[in-house]
Amino acid sequence: MSKQMKGLGVGLTAAVGTVHVVAPAQPLPAWGRSSIGAEAEMDRLRGATAAVVADLDRLAAGADHTTAEIFEAMKMWLEDDGLLEIAEEHLNEGSDAAGAIGQAFNAFAAMFEGDAAFEERIADLQDLSRRVQAHLAGIHLGLDLPQTGRLVLVGEDFSPADTAQFTPAVVGVITRAGGPTSHTAIICRARSIAAVVSVTDAGSLVDGQTVLVDPVGDRVVVDGSITDATKPLEFADTDAATLIPVRSNIGTAADAKTAAATKANGVGLFRTELLYLSASTQPSVEQQAASYAEVLAAAPDGPIVVRTIDAGSDKPVPFLNMPHEENPSLGVRGFRLIVEHRQFIADQLTSLEAARKSTGREVWVMAPMIATVDEAAEFAALARSIGDFKVGIMIETPAISMQVDRLSGVVDFVSIGTNDLSQYLFAADRMNPALGALLNPWQPGLIRMLAKIGTDGAAAGVSVGVCGESASDPAFAVVLAGLGITSVSASPSQVNVVSNALASVTLEQAKAVAAAALSGTDAASAKAAALEALAATR
Ligand code: PEP
Ligand code: MG
Repeated sequence: MSKQMKGLGVGLTAAVGTVHVVAPAQPLPAWGRSSIGAEAEMDRLRGATAAVVADLDRLAAGADHTTAEIFEAMKMWLEDDGLLEIAEEHLNEGSDAAGAIGQAFNAFAAMFEGDAAFEERIADLQDLSRRVQAHLAGIHLGLDLPQTGRLVLVGEDFSPADTAQFTPAVVGVITRAGGPTSHTAIICRARSIAAVVSVTDAGSLVDGQTVLVDPVGDRVVVDGSITDATKPLEFADTDAATLIPVRSNIGTAADAKTAAATKANGVGLFRTELLYLSASTQPSVEQQAASYAEVLAAAPDGPIVVRTIDAGSDKPVPFLNMPHEENPSLGVRGFRLIVEHRQFIADQLTSLEAARKSTGREVWVMAPMIATVDEAAEFAALARSIGDFKVGIMIETPAISMQVDRLSGVVDFVSIGTNDLSQYLFAADRMNPALGALLNPWQPGLIRMLAKIGTDGAAAGVSVGVCGESASDPAFAVVLAGLGITSVSASPSQVNVVSNALASVTLEQAKAVAAAALSGTDAASAKAAALEALAATR
């Protein structure tokens, strides 16, 4: 019998190919003390960073739009004066070039730690650090993949620069690490490459083996054939009305433009943290208003749901001077900043109101990390005293999930952040790849909680959206609609496929798919039952 390996499937189409193991690159040399002096080390560093910028330009020229944009953002890190300034301090203390730049990148990455929304940025920074250090050491990092054949790449995980080197021969990807929101997962989903991530046994695969990559079945089958694949789902491309609105998640004006080119009906989550994370001093109300106006003007037609800052001591905003915490994800983050930084949140709302007026867009505002009805009421009163917004909160804690019925008349809408809700419901750190199975949205514990929120929201007259990654899975989006969720918000690359799925079912059918998902006693059986019910609607 063929050997099967379990993992987390990405996307809906399967592929068979030949295993091509991507060996870990030669290890980078340990950091040391300089023997040539700070000035000469700085020259080497400038040369290495320029070489990496040139590499990124070369890769971007042949890459798709999404990947090319990632490289543009990565180049900006390399060209940031702050990076070389930090490196220079280490050089002056006697570090060699590799140690100085490595520590400078670590300092940048520390600013983003603790929030999965920035997981990719941390990975990008680590990748850049590795690339500059490899150039300094003369180590080659290219994947050198063949152009023809049917390859299934097997590796620990793949960075943006790795995925940009995927040739047309790559039909499948298997990674040992990485969860449902890893860069590999996002790129493979966007490019329809069959992928299964978090495959603990991936290390036992060897070059030349034939494997079936079966994302719908969450498995890899050695010597499997395409006829063994769990039935893939395809949804016809259509502009027909979707069962519930499908919005887009964005973080920047560039994201807003990308989203505007999709079928998105407005924005379901604008993560505003970016504006603050790259600022070393507090931006003025005028500066914030200008940045928001740029994003609002570029966003797809429809309402734009803006989330007030979601920062905590784990993701320090330098000018807020937040103290160190033992358990940052359980600490002062999101709306809890209101105690020490009320003016900061009020300024954000004032800037949004100015941007709303100047662009004429419909703006909804919501607060992250709400745990009590009192917090929801406090945010609603503040937001309504400042602007003409629809006002809502994110549902990310089990505590507020159990009190949605009490939000009637308090807020206009709620939006479920399934990334954090899973983390707190399962007591599983969302940054820990070893816990990917608990963070799988098909877990019955999460589906039951979503069902309760949907039912309670409808009874309370509060609209309930979902903006966590789970809504980017088209089959799961159908389950959500069947559970009474009234809108979903997906990453821009997934908006069209989620829209196609939600245009292909009636409410009755979605309810049947949701009932099937609810019947599952574990993630695998919940997903299998839902997919079978969905297939029966075709
Ligand atoms: C979530 O928690 O699901 C969410 C959408 O917010 P973030 O990922 O930014 O924490
Ligand atoms: Mg969250």
